[in-house]
Amino acid sequence: MLNGTKSKPMNRRALIGKLKHFDDGVRSLFEQATDSCQNLYQTYTGDALDLREIQTYPEWKVQMCFRNLRKHHRKRSRQSIIYILPVGPFPKVLRTPIERGSVSTFELIRRFVSCYFFGMTVKFLEEIAVTKVNCKQRFHPVTGKLQLLVTDLMHYLKTSLPADGYCIIGLTWVDLYPGEDWNFVLGESSCEDGCAVVSFGHFEPQSYQYKHLNDTTNQNIAGVQCDKADGTISSVSFERNGHDDVSLYLEDFADIEKVNKKIIWRLLRVSSHEICHVFGMAHCSYFACAMNESKSVLQAENQPLFLCPVCLRKLQKAVGFDVMERYTGLCILLEYVMNEILSKDDYCHTEDTSLQNTEECKFVMAISWLKSVLKFIKRNNDINSTSN
Ligand SMILES: [Zn+2]
Ligand SMILES: [Zn+2]
Repeated sequence: MLNGTKSKPMNRRALIGKLKHFDDGVRSLFEQATDSCQNLYQTYTGDALDLREIQTYPEWKVQMCFRNLRKHHRKRSRQSIIYILPVGPFPKVLRTPIERGSVSTFELIRRFVSCYFFGMTVKFLEEIAVTKVNCKQRFHPVTGKLQLLVTDLMHYLKTSLPADGYCIIGLTWVDLYPGEDWNFVLGESSCEDGCAVVSFGHFEPQSYQYKHLNDTTNQNIAGVQCDKADGTISSVSFERNGHDDVSLYLEDFADIEKVNKKIIWRLLRVSSHEICHVFGMAHCSYFACAMNESKSVLQAENQPLFLCPVCLRKLQKAVGFDVMERYTGLCILLEYVMNEILSKDDYCHTEDTSLQNTEECKFVMAISWLKSVLKFIKRNNDINSTSN
């Protein structure tokens, strides 16, 4: 039954818990988790996760209950604001309306996170310059990129979470690194501290000339979800570490002229994945899912934008949204991105397999998947209402 697992079939309730308080359509959707004939969710093709990392819905629930025994966590869990803190500088185009539309990329991220975590309020905090954050910095010896030590940035975020916030998400264009021996890190999150950081520094085009540095491996260190670089770097000294060098570097940093579908797709994909970790969700190996671990930059952007039934069950419990309303909202937003904001000239046709990895295609396929899910929920509600 379960895709990608070789063990004997798992009891549905042991995997996704009780479903009796959902209406028929949504319950049927969750039941797809153990339906061998379903066609909404694709098979997981990644590496098998360590047994200790696999997290069923009941396991997630128990972990969240334990967290709530602590007062600060209990207090936080009652809040419903996701704060996003931009840690600049950013390319100016992220603040200006995209192509033909009236919203900026920042506003689009806010709207997307609001739909993905439907029921939470998403607010931007005022941008802070990276030079104002007390972070250890280095220049990567091969790429020459400025990088921030992710643990320092996480500490800053943890201490900057407003009292009425559920979590705080740091967004930066600057590259991050998790330790001297590592190349880079795409993001990191801590459910315990209610914070996450997402870096788009490694998605910049110039990173791709160093393909051997783009492999990552996810590691889970002391409850911290972390997407790390696999390769180690040689022990070159980082003498270019002075304040002047950093200022000089930042002067002509992050200078892209146009926001395209590729950038938007990556921003939405990586942000939603890291924020899900803040809700205590571990990596998933049940299906192809937004919570699959990524071992390379390419993997991170090619994984699905949406959650499998097991992960959706966790997020629904944490946020309490109506599944149908959430998917409807996401569908309207993505259609708006495709039809109103970005130009249509380079749309792909999903039948053409050579184009299936383009971002245009990812948007088209994501919208088509959302429509299938909405149709599925509606059909299962209708079947039951006519049979009663
Ligand atoms: Zn992750
Ligand atoms: Zn999943």
